[in-house]
Amino acid sequence: NLDGFEKQSKNVPLRHEWFQTEDTITVVIYTKQKVINLDSIIVDLEGSVLRTEVRQQEYSYILHLELCHEVQEAISVHCTGKVGKIELNLKKRNSIIWNDLGYPQELHNSYKRKTDRGLFYRKCTLLSKTDVSHDTRLLCFQLPPGCYLTISIGQHIYLKSNIQDVEVVRPYTPVLPTLYVDPKDNGLTCTNIYLMVKIYPDGLLTPLIDRLQIGDCISVSSPEGNFKHSQLEGITELILLAAGTGFTPMIKLINFALKIPSFRKLQLLFFNKTEEDILWRDQLDQLALKDERFTVEYILSEPHPEWRGKQGKIEMSLCSECLTGRTEELKTLLCICGPTSFTEQAVGFFKRLGFNNEEIYAFSG
Ligand code: NAD
Repeated sequence: NLDGFEKQSKNVPLRHEWFQTEDTITVVIYTKQKVINLDSIIVDLEGSVLRTEVRQQEYSYILHLELCHEVQEAISVHCTGKVGKIELNLKKRNSIIWNDLGYPQELHNSYKRKTDRGLFYRKCTLLSKTDVSHDTRLLCFQLPPGCYLTISIGQHIYLKSNIQDVEVVRPYTPVLPTLYVDPKDNGLTCTNIYLMVKIYPDGLLTPLIDRLQIGDCISVSSPEGNFKHSQLEGITELILLAAGTGFTPMIKLINFALKIPSFRKLQLLFFNKTEEDILWRDQLDQLALKDERFTVEYILSEPHPEWRGKQGKIEMSLCSECLTGRTEELKTLLCICGPTSFTEQAVGFFKRLGFNNEEIYAFSG
């Protein structure tokens, strides 16, 4: 029961077909890839328009149809890794036999470099908003019911809004609701997206984000990013250097690494202006007490006089200090995130200390 567009797809690398029962529609996409992860699939069902994106390395395939008949909003996605098959399961709204799956939309059956596609946005609803510090909020947004996507470690999304007729777009790295959230609620396959947003009073977008009320919507893009999960394979040590909200990508990394039994050592060097700026300090301190593999050091650039901890900004001595006393054979990855100048300086120091490009990942906005 191949659909009418099958012939058009001869010159694109992916093939799809569909099946039906009395109550269900199943769309199958054959990726020809043995290793296929759920995080390479993004589905948006808006009304009767189904947009499914399959990402393969730097390429993206899109199946884009206006469905012939109505379906329910809830969708489920499965993939069978060994044969590279992706299955979308939809429920018919009415038990009628479909003669066709749908009418092709502008992007149907296109296969392009990811960089040649514009960002795709869907409206997400603010579910909750809590203070993390005097200027930083933890916001939880709910994806629409017809949306399926996964945000992997190191990936970011964009928020978009029109402010006085100007489109404003900013990147944010989704976080977890807490540092030690349970793996089954790991924030990867999501219905909810958690963002930790620092409100800059003179900023363009963040004051608007701060004014969002529960139930309000904002446009959220599909996930992007260069961080590869394979960089974490076999890693036994992580050194994380975060400055200010540069802490956000570290949250999933900490959560992930400490769940691996063979993982040995995780150091977080967390640079902030003052004590009040330290994000999730209670959680970090508790985690350090609970898990002896984890240590955290706070370095303040504008401390109050009574601060007894480390002071200053990123410097060579701090970087070399965190490498002292390493006796075990460790496979290390260093991750850095913060203002550009902070990141550049940190990369420079660690290269001088003998780290090569494969051992360093610098997040850039
Ligand atoms: P901030 O201004 O509060 O500064 C925090 C600390 O960063 C300072 O205490 C200082 O130690 C260090 N720092 C700041 N400017 C520096 C400089 N010029 N040289 C060396 N060190 C410096 O930080 P913030 O307002 O929270 O900003 C965080 C930055 O992290 C933003 O620039 C944001 O774009 C970036 N960020 C990037 C990503 C990403 O790339 N994925 C994610 C989150 C945040």
